[in-house]
Amino acid sequence: MAPGPSVVPPPDKRTGAWLYVDVDTTPGRMDCRGDGCRWGNAPNKTRARDHLVGCLAAKRSFPEMMGVLVPAVNNFGAPPLPVTTEQLHDWRVLWVEAMCDSCLPLGFFETDAWRAALGAVTGGRFQGPGDRRMLASTYVPLVAAKSDARTAERIREADSSAVFMDGATVNRQGVYNFVN
Ligand SMILES: [Zn+2]
Repeated sequence: MAPGPSVVPPPDKRTGAWLYVDVDTTPGRMDCRGDGCRWGNAPNKTRARDHLVGCLAAKRSFPEMMGVLVPAVNNFGAPPLPVTTEQLHDWRVLWVEAMCDSCLPLGFFETDAWRAALGAVTGGRFQGPGDRRMLASTYVPLVAAKSDARTAERIREADSSAVFMDGATVNRQGVYNFVN
C-alpha cells in the first residue's frame, strides 16, 4: 500500500529524508533535491526516503545523505546489542580476508555510506572493518599470516612442488607461484 500524505514539519524541525527533498516551492508536492533528478510526489517522508536511497543524483549531490537516512540507533554510540572484543576481532579478520580475496582496496569500506549500510544490517554491531591504518598495521598481517600458513601446509602435504617467479610485481617485489 502506498504511504499516505504526511504533514511537512517546519524547516527547523526537518530531519532525515525531509532534508533532501524540496517541499517549499510547490504546495502539496515534494521534489528530489538531487542535481539533475526530476522525481517528485506528494509529500511523505517514507516515500521520499524510498526514492532517495536509490537516487544516484541525490547520492552525488549529498555524499553524507546515506549516513543520515539510516535509523539513528545505527549511527553512533554504543552498540545496541552486546558484542565482545573477540567477536569484533574475528569479524574484522573475516572481513579483511574477504576484502583481500576480492582484491578490494584497503579504504574501500571507509565511507559513511558503508558504515551506515553495515551498521543497519548488523543492528549497529559492525560498522566495517576499520580505517586504513588499522587494517594495514593489524589485520592485513594477520590475514597474510593465515594465507602463508595455508600455502606452507599445501607445500608440506604435496608429493612434489615447483616454484617459479612470475613477471608480475607488487611494490617491485616478485610474485612466487607454487605448483603442487
Ligand atoms: Zn532523486
